[in-house]
Amino acid sequence: RPLLIGVTGGIGSGKSTVCRIFEALGIPVYYADERAKWLVDHDAILKSDITRLLGPEAYDIAGRYARSWVAAQVFGNPELLLQLNALIHPRVYADTDLWARDYTGKPYVIKEAALLRAAGEGGNRLDKLIVVQSPLELRIHRVHKRDPQRTEQEIKNIISRQLSDEERIEMADYVIYNNETQLLIPQVLRLHETFLRTDL
Ligand code: ATP
Repeated sequence: RPLLIGVTGGIGSGKSTVCRIFEALGIPVYYADERAKWLVDHDAILKSDITRLLGPEAYDIAGRYARSWVAAQVFGNPELLLQLNALIHPRVYADTDLWARDYTGKPYVIKEAALLRAAGEGGNRLDKLIVVQSPLELRIHRVHKRDPQRTEQEIKNIISRQLSDEERIEMADYVIYNNETQLLIPQVLRLHETFLRTDL
């Protein structure tokens, strides 16, 4: 498969915005969170595994995933959440690999996810990891503007459950700064040129 580059960052950091710039350069992007949702809804093996773990209430009569029911079951039950993730994550890794193999003609492809494991921790072997970094206040402001139904406190709660900026940067090969002074497009172009060089 082509080189697989990870793009991660906290909520509202600008991961998707960065990935859309890569897409404009012709680079395919795997949006892991969206794809995981799709697999949970449609992948027959995953559906039967989830039903075995959580019971038939996990899907409604039409076969649709009962997302809020499941959220209520795993809320306050970290062990069950681990078991559920242990079903979903390997499916997403396998799906990422299959997806990437369709793009052997591309110099590299990108996987975007809010959580990407560090090298050697299982999951997809990422050749490089980009972390998108943005000031906290700006992230809260942007998410609130995008999802007005979310309160500032809810956004802060999500942020407090995610990795800290320091933890992410520790894993990063490259950092993209998405703030009010540094422009995104030149930073993405610079990385694109780096990944096109064969001596990576
Ligand atoms: P999430 O984890 O919630 O999916 P994300 O990290 O993918 O967030 P984006 O969706 O890319 O973040 O950005 C959050 C919001 O901020 C979006 O509405 C996006 O359009 C806006 N935004 C991000 N970066 C910029 C920027 N440099 N200039 C203007 N708006 C931006």
